Amino acid sequence: MLAQAGHKAQRRFLEELQHWHDEMVMHQRFVQRFGPAACSDDCPHAAGRRLWREARELLGPAADGLTFLRNCAGDPPPATPARAACATPA
Ligand SMILES: [Zn+2]
Repeated sequence: MLAQAGHKAQRRFLEELQHWHDEMVMHQRFVQRFGPAACSDDCPHAAGRRLWREARELLGPAADGLTFLRNCAGDPPPATPARAACATPA
C-alpha cells in the first residue's frame, strides 16, 4: 500500500519534472540573454529548488542522477543571493 502510494508520487513527480525541464530550458535562454534580471521569485529556478527537495525525498540517492535538476536547483552557496546563482549556466 505504502509502496504503491510512493510509486504514484514518483510518477506524478516525474511528469512535473518533465514539464519543468521544458520551462527551464526556455528560461535559461532568457537568463543568458538578459542576465539575472530574467529571474524572479517564482521563475523555474524557484520551482527547481522545490522539485530538487522533492526529488531527494522521493528518490533518495537516485536523485543525484537528475543532473539537470541538480545543476539548476542545487542549493546556492549561503553567501550568494538566489538570483545571482540563477545566472550560472548549467
Ligand atoms: Zn531563474
